[in-house]
Amino acid sequence: MPFGYSGNILHIDLSSRKHWIEHPPENFYRTYMGGRALALYYMLKEMKPKTDPLSPDNLLIFAPSVITGTPAPAIPRYTVCAKSPLTGAQGEAEAGGWWGPELKKAGFDAIVIKGGSPTPVYLYIKDGKVEIKDATHLWGKDTGTTQMTIREELADDKIRIAQIGPAGENLVRFANIVNELKHFNGRNGLGAVMGSKKLKAIAVRGTKPINLFDKEKISQITKEITKRVMDNPLSRGFRELGTPGTVRPAYEAGCLPSYNWTTGYFKEGESLTAETYNKTILKRTEGCFACPIRCKRVVEINEPDLKVNHAYGGPEYETIASLGSICGISDLKYIAKANELCNRYTMDTISTGMVIAFAMQCYQEGLLTKEDTGGIELTFGNKEAVLEIIEKIAYREGLGDLLSQGSYLAAQKIGKGSEKFTHQVKRQEIPMHDPRLKTGVGLQYALSDYGADHMKAAHDPFFKDKDSVGIKEMKGLGILEPVSPTDMGEKKVALFKLWDIYWTVFDILGVCDFGYVPRSVGTMEELLEIIKSTTGWKTTWFELMKLGERSINMARIFNYREGFTSKDDTLPEVFYQNFKGGPLDGQGAINKKDFEKAIKLRYELMGWNQDTGIPAPAKLIELGLNWLIKEVK
Ligand code: SF4
Repeated sequence: MPFGYSGNILHIDLSSRKHWIEHPPENFYRTYMGGRALALYYMLKEMKPKTDPLSPDNLLIFAPSVITGTPAPAIPRYTVCAKSPLTGAQGEAEAGGWWGPELKKAGFDAIVIKGGSPTPVYLYIKDGKVEIKDATHLWGKDTGTTQMTIREELADDKIRIAQIGPAGENLVRFANIVNELKHFNGRNGLGAVMGSKKLKAIAVRGTKPINLFDKEKISQITKEITKRVMDNPLSRGFRELGTPGTVRPAYEAGCLPSYNWTTGYFKEGESLTAETYNKTILKRTEGCFACPIRCKRVVEINEPDLKVNHAYGGPEYETIASLGSICGISDLKYIAKANELCNRYTMDTISTGMVIAFAMQCYQEGLLTKEDTGGIELTFGNKEAVLEIIEKIAYREGLGDLLSQGSYLAAQKIGKGSEKFTHQVKRQEIPMHDPRLKTGVGLQYALSDYGADHMKAAHDPFFKDKDSVGIKEMKGLGILEPVSPTDMGEKKVALFKLWDIYWTVFDILGVCDFGYVPRSVGTMEELLEIIKSTTGWKTTWFELMKLGERSINMARIFNYREGFTSKDDTLPEVFYQNFKGGPLDGQGAINKKDFEKAIKLRYELMGWNQDTGIPAPAKLIELGLNWLIKEVK
């Protein structure tokens, strides 16, 4: 019996309604370990290039890791992968919560789903048993109703449910997947893939503990990290303010993305800060499985004309900016309501806010009219309009149908030069961090295999001076010297090569980015010890970094097969221009030539062709990916 994992990969064909269990050997687990690496193995082996993402031939893979479910702190995450209907590239999103650990306890290391059902279904997985159940009565229902109904009909309120709401059913290209109503596989439209398969939910329940190699050691490390979480100002502050704590420094610096990225200056910024949030809408904080940090926000509003249900969590920093300042809105209560609607219907809040802001700018410039909006005055700052448009996107009504395609495709349809109001990389709307002040984040936006994402690496300020956590705690990776957040030279490129790989290891293993260095108090050594004590493997950071690099190369090849080239590794034009307004007015533009040079250097450091960005066969051999060499010849 292996430790940490069960050796069971569940395969489901929704077309034939058959399922079977694969038992890969230990070396398979040691090579891929879980998450995106494991998922990419199946996507590259079993999916033909140019597969329509919304067809039954797309694979939808749910993958925790060999250490998911260990009681050690902040390792609750699991990955969902498929070809993305938003980007057309490798699609991927990680979620925390409780679902991943429960799947492991139910006896499975991953689920690989293919085909599509003609009628709505949900999966019920309990202690190794699998059933495909009718979900006709759940189709069209919001997430709260679906969760309650499934728990009632299976007579078990401890069942964990990953599911889609109406936006996923209606194939909104940025629909997401949620577990426990508030933990999201947020980006890349993976909820639409689930909807295209008519798969409403996956309900899991496991009553057996996970087999751990050294339970006592894990318990000792857990106690030590938990004590530090309570004592350390960094993790205490994170619990008190959560990700909304990012609003104040961003708005005070003048880089809070506002009005569809036309400025970083949002003069009502104080009304969006974590301090205002805590005073006005916060009900309590919550955590994920086995996490003492408890950074998640839960809000509630009970006013006669505005109610927000606490069951759907509360807005994080990305949502406050994307459904707030990006749309010119400064009312946290309305942002909380917009967040609740997105969560009920399962829509990514970053893409939703960005696509609405794009439409607002088109409206402002006369490219969309009141006739196009169905009579809605779609001006920046119109908070009621945002709520109305969210409903229309989820149900693909009127203008909502166009916006449900994402800003890139919507601009293609509108034409008239509207493309310049979209801000996306590989067709995915950019998150709420300005790369003009964090150039490493810019490199990651451009190079991310699944479109612009802020979780592709730790951000530049963690390495800005000798007292930064990244410099003090991570010398073991060879990071010895600080680099300025706005530097775009060789040191920055080399640093972010390491960061990309290190953070990718977190994604593969289901480790929360907010639990370990440089974002929190768990150390690299402790994380390594947790992996060893869970699996019994005498692993090293060398092996883990190769694991991360392996998955980056696999994703690169997947995208190459889909037609992506080095031209797609770029940034939106807005970042090559200076800030407008506020303290940074007239400064900050990224030098395009420097940026392009940095991308080429990164290719070289990765062992990719300097011009095309295609992995060299020798690199694939080094990573044990010989089976992919035929793809790059
Ligand atoms: S730090 Fe926050 S998001 Fe991460 S596992 Fe803990 S509660 Fe969840």
